Amino acid sequence: ASKVADGRITGRIRINSRAAEFQDVAESLNRASDAFREKIEELERLTALQKEFIGNVSHEVRNPIFAISGYLEALGTPSLTDDMRKRYAEKALINLERLQNLFNDLIEIARLEYREDLINRSEFDLKDLVNEVSEMLRPKAEKKGLDLNVDIPRYLVSADRNRIRQVLVNFIDNAIAYTDEGSVRCRVQRRLDKVRIEVVDTGKGIDEEHLSRIFDRFYRVDPDRSRDSGGTGLGLSIVKQILQAHGEHPHVESTKGRGTRFWFELPYAGVPEEAEPEEA
Ligand code: ADP
Repeated sequence: ASKVADGRITGRIRINSRAAEFQDVAESLNRASDAFREKIEELERLTALQKEFIGNVSHEVRNPIFAISGYLEALGTPSLTDDMRKRYAEKALINLERLQNLFNDLIEIARLEYREDLINRSEFDLKDLVNEVSEMLRPKAEKKGLDLNVDIPRYLVSADRNRIRQVLVNFIDNAIAYTDEGSVRCRVQRRLDKVRIEVVDTGKGIDEEHLSRIFDRFYRVDPDRSRDSGGTGLGLSIVKQILQAHGEHPHVESTKGRGTRFWFELPYAGVPEEAEPEEA
């Protein structure tokens, strides 16, 4: 039958089915436009974040550079005493170190962002790694009179050793930096097929309102204290990126004035051959 004939005979049915067709088309158009709007919003959000990041980077770079050039210029003043000369040189060095920390962290972020294959898994003994990191940071803890306590069992985990080293350095270094008295402890527990690693301090703690943001780039609860301790505000964002690349997440719990507990998990891969299995 021709379309015209069809139309005449089954006109009403055709109009109804056409209306249903239009409704379907309208619905998929709506869905597409919602998805499109979401994409645009996501892009706008990313662009805003990128702008904010660049703004933060320029700010963080500009300050130490101004300081360094100021101190170097002042060093040229003829009437300067030896003491002042020494102090200015030290200040210039501190700012240079700040700049170096920032560059190292930025390079790390760029590498993690653009080369996700950078996670190089192997099975390694967590105890050796924790000991290595704690021995490196012990002088800093001792200088502040803090007890750095890391008595942990021997477990093998499957992860990128160098990257997990960075995670531990960040957590333990922060714990030392934000604790004035008491202790910093690193504990390890086995939980079924995972090993949980936690760093607990008796430090200043973090207010509830800040907790969800401390893993954001450049977020600091107390910017002056962070800068004074050589912090860049990027450490925890790098930690988060590294753990996410492992399919894991950082966790935090804190009580203001009492202390903070950070923890994360890694896949358990057994015990080293020479070690006796220990109680979980
Ligand atoms: P920073 O270089 O400033 O230490 P991080 O990204 O490592 O940057 O940490 C972000 C912020 O989280 C810090 O500036 C600090 O305010 C807070 N913070 C991190 N670790 C601790 C901790 N153990 N105790 C208290 N505050 C902490």
